Amino acid sequence: MQYYDSESLQKCSKLLDYFEKGISDEEKNISHCLLFWGPDISLQCNLALEIARLLNCSDDKSINCGCLNCKWIKEQSHPAVKIYTRLDFKEAASSKDVEDSTKGKKNITVEQAKSIISELSITSDYHRVYIFCDRDEEGNLLPLNRLNFPEATSNALLKTFEEPPQNTTFIFLTKNTSDIISTVVSRAQSFFIPSPPKNSQDFSLVENLMQNYWTIQPEQVLEFQNSMLNLMEENNPKEVLSCIQNYMAAIMTSNTENKLFFHKQLENIKYVEDAKQQLSLTPAMNLQNVIENLCYKLIL
Ligand SMILES: [Zn+2]
Repeated sequence: MQYYDSESLQKCSKLLDYFEKGISDEEKNISHCLLFWGPDISLQCNLALEIARLLNCSDDKSINCGCLNCKWIKEQSHPAVKIYTRLDFKEAASSKDVEDSTKGKKNITVEQAKSIISELSITSDYHRVYIFCDRDEEGNLLPLNRLNFPEATSNALLKTFEEPPQNTTFIFLTKNTSDIISTVVSRAQSFFIPSPPKNSQDFSLVENLMQNYWTIQPEQVLEFQNSMLNLMEENNPKEVLSCIQNYMAAIMTSNTENKLFFHKQLENIKYVEDAKQQLSLTPAMNLQNVIENLCYKLIL
């Protein structure tokens, strides 16, 4: 299945700007461990492949570049750019057995992890990019979770994630950061990849509430919190929180120049996600407590 699509990269163009700048920076200013989270795994994979392309391009990095590296990545045949799922592991010696050996395979195994480690011990002329996710038998991409990327496998790779060989980048694709064990999350730089807004409605619900919210002073938090609660009484609270995330993602991506602001928004999106999860617990946490806690994190 084809996962690279230069056109749909437009959907995350600002985030892409951020990576482009980092990669062109003399010091290759991007983390060697990236974690993408959000609802759209295909878009995440597309972005991951584009980052791999920018890291490997031997020409001018333009989207239409026809150098061999770009060509291979677009065709997903690059020898150093790999999508690793539980179904992509040649456990058997001959490739004709691959189908049998992966049948019903539930997760990325420790053995698979070991083969990745031994593969990485050989030096490469390319910038290796390993994308970890899941897929079904038809090739549809799915997020990583604790079942398909279990703790034992993560642990086997932890040291490699922490101190990878030169010119190696790992990218994890998942729906929620809580679906990956925390020791991996803490070693990665996390990015929320929003689903592309269908229309401007996506955050219009919260636009008044959130406008310039970063200028709110500590003594105004209570007022902010009450306005948020009022909005939640009239609407589905989790929907309001999703709109707030969309709003943050939109302002974040229009301010990629200001790194501090950018990272604060990323952090805040995560706090909103925590609030959403607290409301999904059974029994759910008290709405007022959740929002009070959230507002303090956002403002202070
Ligand atoms: Zn190129």
